[in-house]
Amino acid sequence: MSNFEDIKLYLTEKNVTLVAVSKTKPTAAILALYDRGQRDFGENKVQELREKYEEMPKDIRWHLIGHLQSNKVKYIAEWVYMIHSVDSLSLLEEINKQAAKHNRIIPCLLQTYIAKEETKFGMDEAELHALLQSSTFAGLKNISINGLMGMATNTSDEEIIRAEFLHLKAIFSTLKQTYFNEASQFSMLSMGMSSDYKIAVECGSSMVRIGSLLFGERQ
Ligand SMILES: *Cc1c(COP(=O)(O)O)cnc(C)c1O
Repeated sequence: MSNFEDIKLYLTEKNVTLVAVSKTKPTAAILALYDRGQRDFGENKVQELREKYEEMPKDIRWHLIGHLQSNKVKYIAEWVYMIHSVDSLSLLEEINKQAAKHNRIIPCLLQTYIAKEETKFGMDEAELHALLQSSTFAGLKNISINGLMGMATNTSDEEIIRAEFLHLKAIFSTLKQTYFNEASQFSMLSMGMSSDYKIAVECGSSMVRIGSLLFGERQ
């Protein structure tokens, strides 16, 4: 975990938020970073997120970064800090419904598809416009759209990664202008992981999700 201070310093200078991705890692590893001041942690599975939430200090800000099934929203709605992986209007409706039960407004990011891989979740630009223009969306009062999240293709070709991140940044700017001009909460662009976070920051990221570089490789 000796990388933490260097990464933190780099990101702080650029005003970028670090989400430490602790999936598969034991609570002791989370506490080690917590003790050094880290408060934002990300998990990709609801079950694991719940278990860690129960065990860990309550001032941790938990980010759900992995694919979320509608029937599991209820398990995290009371306390999840931000959901990065909203990829449909129906999921957003369910988040809204569960948030209302707890009298909350849950911050959400719309996961945007930018990679050349069939396996990555997310909406394309046309789907994002359709969602944001729908009357259903307009009626959702217990969610807040705070920005976008995306993942680049898993490749060593930096030019492909850069082009995808710039594409995401362009979509972000278009949506901000079109739908969120007066809405300051639409400000987060969650892009960049261990292998590509510096490229992401150069391309305008405001939040990176870093796992293996902080905690070591996963099994
Ligand atoms: C696992 C994961 C990360 C972190 O990946 P690393 O390569 O370990 O930094 C970031 N974002 C999402 C959505 C993930 O599932």
